[in-house]
Amino acid sequence: MKGVKERLAKKIKLITIVSTLKNSIDRTIHHIRDEVVAESGQSRGCVTPTILELEDVEDQEHEQDLQEEEEREILLEFEENCPPGGEDSVVFYTTGLRGVRKTFEACRRVRFLLENHKVMYKERDVSMDTEFRDEMWRLLGGKVTSPRLFIRGRYIGGADEVVALNENGKLKKLLEGISLVDSPCECCENERFLICSSCNGSSRLIADEEETSNNDNKMWTRCRECNENGLVKCPLCS
Ligand SMILES: [Zn+2]
Ligand SMILES: [Zn+2]
Repeated sequence: MKGVKERLAKKIKLITIVSTLKNSIDRTIHHIRDEVVAESGQSRGCVTPTILELEDVEDQEHEQDLQEEEEREILLEFEENCPPGGEDSVVFYTTGLRGVRKTFEACRRVRFLLENHKVMYKERDVSMDTEFRDEMWRLLGGKVTSPRLFIRGRYIGGADEVVALNENGKLKKLLEGISLVDSPCECCENERFLICSSCNGSSRLIADEEETSNNDNKMWTRCRECNENGLVKCPLCS
């Protein structure tokens, strides 16, 4: 019993010593800090970082971490559904067809918002390429119409959802960290497609002799490099 008491007493003593030490260290740090403040006030143009500046950097880093965390949290509100090549980018399914006015206008609204935020996005015009249309249908599990927006592998929604998110400020947060546009795409000037160089945009080629039969209609073969419109997707922005 006596042994326990002694040990306890020793422990208490140790704790007191440690806390006294800690206090005196704290005092020294404060003292150094005050000196640094006084010094940096005197000699302006000093390039060595002071403790205070280092603290500023730490604060900024902390703020950035919080911001990134907030972005991730907002992203988590949306269903994970990643279009090909859309892991870390914005993918926008659209249509250039004016046939259905409502759809065309809705696509324009979403494009306008994306342009307003000046972010890079991959635009996939489903009227220019059935592969894009099938891709969009596959992702959303049905024959849906454009526009459809995906950010960082998550499905954000159609025009109504995107407009609402823009109004409540969430779209800005969702787009944070996405590269900004500084100039039109260097490959396609933002046309998103290039004319196929194999077939010059005709989407067909004269068939090889083995493929040619006596039938005149089979003199031609479908170009495998491009889509049904003789276009090749821009490798940079679509
Ligand atoms: Zn491009
Ligand atoms: Zn071609």
